[in-house]
Amino acid sequence: MSSASKQAFATRAIHHGYDPQQYHGALCPPVFMSSTFTFPSAEYGGACFAGTEPGYFYSRIANPTLNLLEQRIANLEGGEAAVAFSSGMGAVTACCWTLLGPGDELIVDETLYGCTFSYFHHGLERFGVKVTHVDMTQPEALAAAIGPRTRLVYCETPANPNMRLVDIAAVAAITHRHAALLLVDNTYCTPYLQQPLALGADIVLHSATKYLGGHGDLLAGVVVTRAELAQDIRLIGLKDMNGAVLSAQDAALLLRGLKTLPLRMERHCDTAQRIAEMLARHPAVERVYYPGLPVFRQYQLAQRQMARPGGMIAFELKGGMAAGIHFLNALQLILRAVSLGDCESLAEHPASMTHSAYSEEERHRHHISDGLIRLSAGLEDADDLLADIEQALAQ
Ligand SMILES: *Cc1c(COP(=O)(O)O)cnc(C)c1O
Repeated sequence: MSSASKQAFATRAIHHGYDPQQYHGALCPPVFMSSTFTFPSAEYGGACFAGTEPGYFYSRIANPTLNLLEQRIANLEGGEAAVAFSSGMGAVTACCWTLLGPGDELIVDETLYGCTFSYFHHGLERFGVKVTHVDMTQPEALAAAIGPRTRLVYCETPANPNMRLVDIAAVAAITHRHAALLLVDNTYCTPYLQQPLALGADIVLHSATKYLGGHGDLLAGVVVTRAELAQDIRLIGLKDMNGAVLSAQDAALLLRGLKTLPLRMERHCDTAQRIAEMLARHPAVERVYYPGLPVFRQYQLAQRQMARPGGMIAFELKGGMAAGIHFLNALQLILRAVSLGDCESLAEHPASMTHSAYSEEERHRHHISDGLIRLSAGLEDADDLLADIEQALAQ
């Protein structure tokens, strides 16, 4: 497609990288359910392995359906290349296995998704990697902590679950004064709302289980970065170390999810804004964390860095943890579940669920209060969702 670079996001989300005429006119890309690929000759097989012939040979390394997915996500993120994984955690571990070794330092923000936190502490530290937390909402804190051993700087923005934001451009500038790379977990925003590579990040990571898939029917992860680094992550982190290969069927479902990503994100944002405004006005609510509220502590940064404030909300009720649990149990339409970014609105209690890998003391140190509720605004009618929240708060 010659005019592809000029096409808008929504068009590329549907078309980029796929030409039906190459596949009998099929509207939807074929699903290559094949573990291995045959060689026309022994010499050709050898050349494939040597890298002197292009060609597929084994699906732990590359598969045409995954390749299309990778090209499309790389394009949407504005990056050179992508690598798909069978989960977000597969993507996290592959990046770290590829980039870090004994004696290296990983600097991470104070708030991280629970399993990422757990892997950094209980996994990576066992292999001699030093893990240092800094409050990346204050870029000066990173500047003070970063040193010659720092290889990777890692953050989520907005962070799961408490919605703290990191100024990607500021943190990238500090990282690049040292021999380190910046990785941004862009799961909460998707490339439709925020493009970390354009702001200076080196690697973007997604749990594609969430908004990119968007329908709660698969687990997947993806990394987008420069072509050379993507190849290292593929060959070292994915092929030889964690083997967290996405299935071709799930890649096809993800390609389907991506087609409606812009539509879905607009709706998630519209609904989340209305819910956040209602919560902020409600007398039973102590505090709301949503980047679209002018009272949000980092509202200016959100306006600058994100196209829209997203579909995730965190809030605390007056009455703390007991009130939060009571509220979750009173919900009738919104479902009690972890994960996020699905059509269904989902609510959960991070302290006892997604972030229970943190000890109580760690939760306090990392800004995850016991009463915090995390809400993923779904695609249902907003009035129905508001009514459900109203009746649950009334209890
Ligand atoms: C869910 C999540 C992950 C982990 O992804 P999985 O697909 O569940 O392995 C990583 N980062 C963030 C921000 C997440 O929400």
